[in-house]
Order: sequence, then C-alpha cells, then structure tokens
Amino acid sequence: MSDDCIFCRIVAGKLPAHRLYEDDLCLAFLDLHPIRAGHTLIIPKKHHVWFEDIPPATSARIMALGQQFARAMKGEWGVERVSFFYTGIHVPHAHAHIVPMHHPHDVSSAAYLKDGIDGFSLPPSPDDSELTKVATRLRQRL
Ligand SMILES: [Zn+2]
Repeated sequence: MSDDCIFCRIVAGKLPAHRLYEDDLCLAFLDLHPIRAGHTLIIPKKHHVWFEDIPPATSARIMALGQQFARAMKGEWGVERVSFFYTGIHVPHAHAHIVPMHHPHDVSSAAYLKDGIDGFSLPPSPDDSELTKVATRLRQRL
C-alpha cells in the first residue's frame, strides 16, 4: 500500500467509495466522474502503477469481474456493448474502466475534447445520492 495513493486508501477503507464488489485480489467501485451511469473501476488491491505489472492471477480476476459487470450493465441499461479499458491516466494505481456504451463513441470520441487534446476535461460528477442509486442498481445485478 502507498499512503499517498488514493486508490490504496480506498482499499484500506480510509477514503469513501461506492464499493460494488471486493475479494482477496481486487475491488470494484463507481467512478466519481462517470462517462455514463454505472461507469465502474476495478483495481488490484495491491499497488501497481501499470496494468502490465499486475500479476496474471489478479489481472485474470479483474477481467472475469469485468465480464460479470458487462453482463450486469447490459441487463440494467439495455446497451449492446460495454467497454473495458485501462488508460493509466489520473491515478497512478492500475484501474480498469468498465463503461456501458450508449453510443459507439462514448469512450473514443472528441466529446470531452472540446478544448483540444491538452484541454481534456472530466465529465461532471453526479451528486452522492445519484451515485448511491446507481451502486444499488449494479449490486443487485451482480
Ligand atoms: Zn495504490
């Protein structure tokens, strides 16, 4: 654990999060700046900066959990596809993004690049009650 890593602090219960699932290797919780409702992050409980450094057993668990979330999201939001990706941006603790895709360009378009590539801005953060509702919906599907 790294004391200055916000994701390690979430794992340790020192910071709040809308936790959706956890086991001995990984933790899933809602992204605070969701591209779409239900946007989830899955992280290894141990601190690894890059996804390629995650031990194979843990990365396989994260992928299997991502598949489980994808099925839940398709059932909950009726979307055709769910994306799963690592970017290595914002928090230096490897985290997989799981996003229900309501539009083919939800995670690949210039929708958030209106100020240019250097002006990338995060989507707005919903209030906590909205995140609580979304977390409840997802937990019921897992
Ligand atoms: Zn960390």
